Amino acid sequence: MNKNHRGNRTVLISGGSVAGPALAYWLHRHGFTPTIVERAPELRDGGYAVDFRGEALDVLDRMGLLAEIRALDTEMDDAAMVDAEGRQYATLPAVIFAGDLEVLKGDLTRKLYEATRQDVEYVFGDSIATLEQDADGVLVTFEHGAPPRRFDLVVGADGLHSRTRALAFGPEEEFVRHLGIYTGIFNLDNYLGLRNTGRLYAAPGKAANIFTARDNTEARAAFHFAADNLEYDRRDPAAQKRIIADRFATDGWEVPRLLEEMEAATEFFFDSNAQVEMDTWSAGRVVLLGDAGYCAGPTSGRGTSQALIGAYLLAGELAARGGDHTAAFAAYEHQMRPYVAEHQALGREGAERFFMPAPTQEILDTLAANAPENVRTEPVRLRDYTPSAAA
Ligand SMILES: Cc1cc2nc3c(=O)[nH]c(=O)nc-3n(C[C@H](O)[C@H](O)[C@H](O)COP(=O)(O)OP(=O)(O)OC[C@H]3O[C@@H](n4cnc5c(N)ncnc54)[C@H](O)[C@@H]3O)c2cc1C
Repeated sequence: MNKNHRGNRTVLISGGSVAGPALAYWLHRHGFTPTIVERAPELRDGGYAVDFRGEALDVLDRMGLLAEIRALDTEMDDAAMVDAEGRQYATLPAVIFAGDLEVLKGDLTRKLYEATRQDVEYVFGDSIATLEQDADGVLVTFEHGAPPRRFDLVVGADGLHSRTRALAFGPEEEFVRHLGIYTGIFNLDNYLGLRNTGRLYAAPGKAANIFTARDNTEARAAFHFAADNLEYDRRDPAAQKRIIADRFATDGWEVPRLLEEMEAATEFFFDSNAQVEMDTWSAGRVVLLGDAGYCAGPTSGRGTSQALIGAYLLAGELAARGGDHTAAFAAYEHQMRPYVAEHQALGREGAERFFMPAPTQEILDTLAANAPENVRTEPVRLRDYTPSAAA
C-alpha cells in the first residue's frame, strides 16, 4: 500500500455473498486488512443461477478464478415455453437467460470464499448492531457474540435489505423501489428428466419455470407473480409459500406438482424484485457495494457483474489513493454511476416486459439477436491497480 495513506487499513465488510468476498480479495491483495461479518451461520450452497456479462469475466480472470468458474457453468441450452397443457409454443434462446456464463450463486460464493479464507477473517452468524463514526474510525457493535471493535472503514455489501444502509443512511423505504414482481425459488429433483434446459410456463401476471442444475442431477424451480407491495414476514418461509400457493392454486402445466415440491424443498428464497436508488453511496467512513447500494433487480441480469466490478474498483481506488477514503469513495462512485444507471434501466425494461403475453418466436429471436448489444457498448474501464502496475 502507498506509504502516505491516512492510516486506513482495517475494513469491516458486512455480507459474505458475492460483493463482500470479492472486495476482501482485492483489499487483501492491496495490503489492507479486511474482516467479513456474514449473518448466515455458514456458507450457503446452491441457490439460484446467476450469470456474468462483459467485464465481470475480466475481473474473474484478474482474480485467477475464471477457469474454475467456467468449470461450474450450467451450460444451458435453449428452453421450451409451454402452455397450460404442456404444449411447446416457442423456444427461449439461452443467450437471453444465461448470459456469457451462468453458475449457481452458492457455487460462486464458495469459490470466492475458498480464494479468500486463508487471508481474510470471516465471522459467520453475526450482524452489525450499531455503527458510531468519529474522525479516526468506526466503532462497531454486533448482534450476537462478537465483541465491539473499531475499524477504519465499513463496507455494506449486505444486499437489497442492507442493515449497513439502514444504520448509516436511513430506512429501507427511502431507497428500495419495488418493480412489481415477486419471486420464489426452490430446489427439487430433476423429476422431468431434462438435460441442460428448462421449461417455462406463463399466464396473465404469472410465470413458473423449472431448470436443471448440477449436471442435471438437480433442478431449480421458480414462481413469479405481479403484485404491488405485499405485507408479509420476511423471516417466515411457510407464510411466503402460502402466498405463492394461493396465487397459483388454479394453474395448469406442472404447477400443482411444483407447488408440492416447493413444500418439501430444502432451500427456498422469496423476495420482491426491486432496485436501490441512492443519491450517494457513502457517508463518512461507511460505503455501500453491490445490491446494498445500487441493486438493478434480477430482471437486469447484471447484479453479479455489478458486485464484482464494484468490488474491483472500490478496492483499487482505496489502494491508488493511499487509503484516502473520501477521495476513493468519490472516484469509485464516479466510475460506477453510469454503468449502474444503464443496468437499472435494463432492469426496469425487463420488469415491464416480464409478463408479456405468450411472446412469438419472432419476438424472442429479436431479443436474442439484440442480447449482445444489451451488454454495455461503452464498458466500464478496469484500470490496473495492482502494486506491480503502480510501481
Ligand atoms: C431470483 C434472482 C435471480 C437473479 N439472477 C441474476 C442473474 O442471472 N445474473 C445476475 O447478474 N444477477 C442475478 N441476480 C442478482 C444477484 O443475485 C445479485 O445482484 C448479487 O448476488 C448481488 O451480490 P451482493 O453480494 O451485493 O448481495 P447478495 O448476494 O444479496 O449478498 C448479501 C449478503 O449479505 C448477507 N447479509 C444480509 N444482511 C446481513 C447483515 N445484517 N449482516 C451480515 N450479513 C448480512 C446475506 O446473507 C448475503 O450473504 C438475481 C437475483 C435474484 C433474487
